[in-house]
Amino acid sequence: MTYHRSISLTILSISLLLLAALIFSPFGWGESLEKGILKVTFLNIRQGDSQVIRTPDGKVILIDGGQSATRYSPFDAGKEVVIPYLESQGVKKIDVVVATHPDYDHTGGLIAVLNSHFQIGMVLDCGIVHTTGTYKKYMKAIDGKKIPLIIPDAGDILDWGPSVQAQVLAPLGPPERRGHMNLNNNSIVIRMEYGDVSFLFTGDCEHEEEDVILSSGARIKATILKAGHHGSKTASGALFYYMSDPEVVTISAGKRNKFDHPSWEPMKIFRETGADIYRTDYQGHITVLTDGKTYEVVTEYEEE
Ligand SMILES: [Zn+2]
Repeated sequence: MTYHRSISLTILSISLLLLAALIFSPFGWGESLEKGILKVTFLNIRQGDSQVIRTPDGKVILIDGGQSATRYSPFDAGKEVVIPYLESQGVKKIDVVVATHPDYDHTGGLIAVLNSHFQIGMVLDCGIVHTTGTYKKYMKAIDGKKIPLIIPDAGDILDWGPSVQAQVLAPLGPPERRGHMNLNNNSIVIRMEYGDVSFLFTGDCEHEEEDVILSSGARIKATILKAGHHGSKTASGALFYYMSDPEVVTISAGKRNKFDHPSWEPMKIFRETGADIYRTDYQGHITVLTDGKTYEVVTEYEEE
């Protein structure tokens, strides 16, 4: 069930392992995490994206929620995976919901979450208006509950508690100035740091937005990189990838998805650099636990 990697072997890493063994126990984690631990879970929500962050200060951040039910598929990631997962963790309040961009495989599942019993502090939205029914339902849920909606800009520092530093790297500038770019390239991209361990959450950011980030001079170095756009060849450009220089790459993709994600081109680069690659389609939920010095990666399943 578990696979682990340590930067250095410490007593703490042993205790992390013990903690890790409990993650997928039927009893969940209850209210609180072990003191000083940051937990990031890349949820297996089939084809789509969803990540849950629990900070050492007790903040809960949900980035995307996978898809909602469509005419073609009754699967609602929000109802069937995200909400049960949050409940299993004892979460009552989601401090921040990040909707990276309005595509249905990211915001669709958020509709059920926004309409559920969770108290929600705010929604970060990329500010691009979409025409789909999914988007309208998502906005209706936000309006209905009067949840503050914030459109962040590159460079903004996010208040996710004193333990972590989180910064928005993209999109850059107001929505009306970037509306010509496709939805993916309007994704909210966030870099989060906890001590020596850092994460890059990329949404469906493709080469165009990667170039915007690179040109901005923002620091993109990350211990753990969520591959952009489900590991598609339209993302993870060589320069962007080498500059982020991750030890771990996570890929959120559905089993035998129709898009053939992840593509072999970025996979080849990931492998060549020796990064540890984790895939939700093979390994289920992927959880990273860190004390800010070392980290463990725990998967729901062994790779098939
Ligand atoms: Zn997507």
